[in-house]
Amino acid sequence: MKSLDSYFNTPSLTEPWPPDTPVSLVWFRNDLRVHDNPALWHATQQGRPVVGLFIDCQQQWRSHGLGEARIAYVHLAVKSLQQQLSERQIPLLVVPAQTFADVIDVFQSLSKQLQLGNLGFNIEYEVNERRRDIEVWRWAKSIELSVNRFHDQCVVPPGDVKTKSGTPFRVYSPFKRAWLSEARNYSLRPLSAPPVSDTSMVIDDSDPSGSGQLNQRQPAPSTINLDTELWQASEESCHEQLQWFIEHRARHYQQDRDFPAKAATSQLSIALALGILSPRQCLHAALQANEGQLSGGNAGIDSWINELIWREFYRHIAVAFPDVCKHRAFKPETEQVPWRDPIQDTRARADFDAWCSGNTGYPIVDAAQRQLLETGWMHNRLRMITAMFLTKHLLIDWRLGEAFFNRHLMDADFCSNNGGWQWSASTGADGAPYFRIFNPISQSQKFDPDGAFIARFIPELTQLSPPSRHFPNPMERAQARYPDAIVEHKFARERALNAFQQLSRQTEEAV
Ligand SMILES: Cc1cc2nc3c(=O)[nH]c(=O)nc-3n(C[C@H](O)[C@H](O)[C@H](O)COP(=O)(O)OP(=O)(O)OC[C@H]3O[C@@H](n4cnc5c(N)ncnc54)[C@H](O)[C@@H]3O)c2cc1C
Repeated sequence: MKSLDSYFNTPSLTEPWPPDTPVSLVWFRNDLRVHDNPALWHATQQGRPVVGLFIDCQQQWRSHGLGEARIAYVHLAVKSLQQQLSERQIPLLVVPAQTFADVIDVFQSLSKQLQLGNLGFNIEYEVNERRRDIEVWRWAKSIELSVNRFHDQCVVPPGDVKTKSGTPFRVYSPFKRAWLSEARNYSLRPLSAPPVSDTSMVIDDSDPSGSGQLNQRQPAPSTINLDTELWQASEESCHEQLQWFIEHRARHYQQDRDFPAKAATSQLSIALALGILSPRQCLHAALQANEGQLSGGNAGIDSWINELIWREFYRHIAVAFPDVCKHRAFKPETEQVPWRDPIQDTRARADFDAWCSGNTGYPIVDAAQRQLLETGWMHNRLRMITAMFLTKHLLIDWRLGEAFFNRHLMDADFCSNNGGWQWSASTGADGAPYFRIFNPISQSQKFDPDGAFIARFIPELTQLSPPSRHFPNPMERAQARYPDAIVEHKFARERALNAFQQLSRQTEEAV
């Protein structure tokens, strides 16, 4: 590993303080914000100089399947955080490390160059991240460095919403009821940011070694046409987006949220996935517009709060049932579904490729996939339609779809993605019943009635009348050079039903 000297400027770091002053070190990960950040807030209460640390583990993220555009976006957000912190006289050290295994080296080097008084961070819940943190905690213990850990990814921390018998919930509705009564026991008011200081910042941004300090890096090249107006990486712009949504859209959310042609949802998922906003900030903004009510207020705002609770549900599931973080189905019996294997079966391979590229011949599915490939985001209704199409119509393993989404979504978030895929595949906690198979044509007619969304992402179908866009006839397809459907709906539905019914029979026999 390179010496840390090349990544930050030690003299300017220690300039305002005597060199041996112990510092409060805040390790930023998926919490790239200064407002409502419990680890940062706690560090500023210690009466010590505060130093931030971000460890740039690109190789690890790639091994987790994240795409280049998302990694580039993380860099933008870190750069913005660095600026925000510098205005508060808090330097943010950005240190490259290949994988989580290198993280201890980073801390060891740091501890030689800085007098560490305490270390704080906000908890990440996924298994690899938790293992990494346990190693760091062990190392810190070995040098008698105190470690403070905080929950920031959920309003009610995982483990605190339980059934009457003290077990974790497996089903959403009772979880939600318990969450609503538990939430009032937690502070729903966001923490403030450390005050802005007039004094000039203390970290030197220059990188004389050219060895990769973040400020000097260009985002990795990406074929994604990132809408930088939409995907803002700064905390301030994400706050504005939240406020705008609450003022202009939230009240109509319930009636409009399922229509992808309308910009009716908040599109704050990436800000939440990277922690540029906290869920508590979102909830607080919603409560202010909802006369302080978590439910029973405005139908639109209630419904938006409900989605924030779904997000929490999947995090609670990942902590209580960590097998879901190891590529396992939440319902173990569904491991036996006879998925068609695109590696062994060339027909399945062709179907999978058609799904990935948005060429299945089902316009709503293809428009959804093309939205993902072109923008890095997909509307929730479409995520359900296309995930169900892959797992039920094509009978292809949800794990392949999950990985594809993970690579292409800017808001890729392990818990929500895994939860959404397992819901769609009927393998998950409170998943859709296996016999509930969306018909992509009627979904299209219902949620994109005039085919406006389809036309936006499949321009070759624009010339067709709106009703024809949902499922063009052979002549219309030929004229538009749009592919034939790769599978017939009735046949696919029966094949999926058989596969799952066979499974229920096997389970009954085993019992
Ligand atoms: C197959 C599948 C995969 C998904 N993968 C992801 C993912 O990788 N990352 C991700 O953030 N969401 C994922 N979701 C959930 C949901 O589709 C997105 O959160 C939502 O579309 C984001 O748009 P928005 O910010 O406008 O949401 P809004 O409708 O404005 O909702 C507000 C916030 O609530 C949360 N949320 C909304 N719906 C859900 C949900 N069903 N489950 C969990 N949280 C939710 C999100 O953080 C979202 O930003 C997935 C859903 C499915 C069905």
